[in-house]
Amino acid sequence: MINDINKIRQDFPILAEQVYGKPLVYLDNAATTQKPQIVIDTLRDYYLHENSNIHRGVHRLSQIATDKYEAARETVREFINAKFTDEIIFTAGTTASMNAFAYSFAKAYLKPGDEILISHMEHHSNIVPWQIACKDCGAVLKVIPIDDNGELMLDEFEKLISPRTKIVSLVHVSNSLGTVNPIQHIIAKAHKQNIPVMIDAAQSIQHLPIDVQKLDCDFLVFSGHKIYGPTGIGILYGKKKFLDEMPPYQGGGDMILSVTFEETKFNVLPYKFEAGTANIAGAIGLGEAIKYVKNIGLDFIATAEGELLDYATSLANEIPEIRIIGTAKEKSSVLSLDVKGIHPHDIGSILDRDGVAVRTGHHCTEPIMRRFNIPATTRASFSFYNTKAEVDALFASLQKVIKLFA
Ligand code: PMP
Repeated sequence: MINDINKIRQDFPILAEQVYGKPLVYLDNAATTQKPQIVIDTLRDYYLHENSNIHRGVHRLSQIATDKYEAARETVREFINAKFTDEIIFTAGTTASMNAFAYSFAKAYLKPGDEILISHMEHHSNIVPWQIACKDCGAVLKVIPIDDNGELMLDEFEKLISPRTKIVSLVHVSNSLGTVNPIQHIIAKAHKQNIPVMIDAAQSIQHLPIDVQKLDCDFLVFSGHKIYGPTGIGILYGKKKFLDEMPPYQGGGDMILSVTFEETKFNVLPYKFEAGTANIAGAIGLGEAIKYVKNIGLDFIATAEGELLDYATSLANEIPEIRIIGTAKEKSSVLSLDVKGIHPHDIGSILDRDGVAVRTGHHCTEPIMRRFNIPATTRASFSFYNTKAEVDALFASLQKVIKLFA
């Protein structure tokens, strides 16, 4: 491998932490990723030397902050290969993007009886905003089912899509199953019927190359904190032709061209959707995180994380008490486990004492838990900075739990 794992780990100071006197084994990367030194330094330097409000100031600091904020927008554009920089809207994260999008799309395009097509493996943030929108506009939510491996049932998708469908809103990679959905295929099918597609890339942007022009998706959302950037920043990408037609989600400063008590003229893209003072440091930090990821290389990331997933999967398959939830052919580095007779919260607490950080619960995907008839899973999620030794530590700790409860 071109990249040296020890050198990579040194980029992430938190990985050297100890918990309860044991080395931290951080396997909760699907919840949030750790931050490289360069991102931490960027945030620190911004507040030390450049902090100022953007767009409105003529003074030097405001100009620097504005330039860096807008440069970060361009970095995001290039990373996902959007056609225009003003198709990139900064939000507070995937959830904020989804809520803005569902509200605005529904206002612009949805009427009673129209249908929104999602899947059974969506995160709550791609379910609840649509349910709220449906209440307002009278549209109906339809759900593509999944099979026992956690794969979309594509024949059912074809049956569900109809002239009533006005949007397909789909997760790219499932955060609790790891399934990588065939979005290129789905987008092509939807477009045949002139239906736009929204992609939740919260769990794919940090693992897979994404080219929105090649995919031809109409909208795409993700969070900065899952791609080694800060919390509180995210992206809503949309094709200009839609965003121009869609109304703003929030009103206030920066999103206007002129205001009188009688009438307000909205600003142009992307500012129309960026009301109020933005998370300036967050946006600049996200730009730096993306540069870091590009430097590590998505090919390297895919290889390293694929190896960790394969290794962990083989260890899990050796333990009779363990059932893997999510066995799709195409998977990202998420391993969700159901351990016979032991509640995930007990597992998580015991693992924690060994320094192993995993996530236990429904992972904001309650419909998936119901589909598999379980209350929760124990989820380990790997990043390129994890090691096989850390996977061994996870399984040593799991074996301990199984013995304890036997
Ligand atoms: N969608 C998916 C697939 C996710 O994994 C997450 C985060 N767990 C979200 C949406 C929501 O992201 P955020 O909490 O950063 O808004």
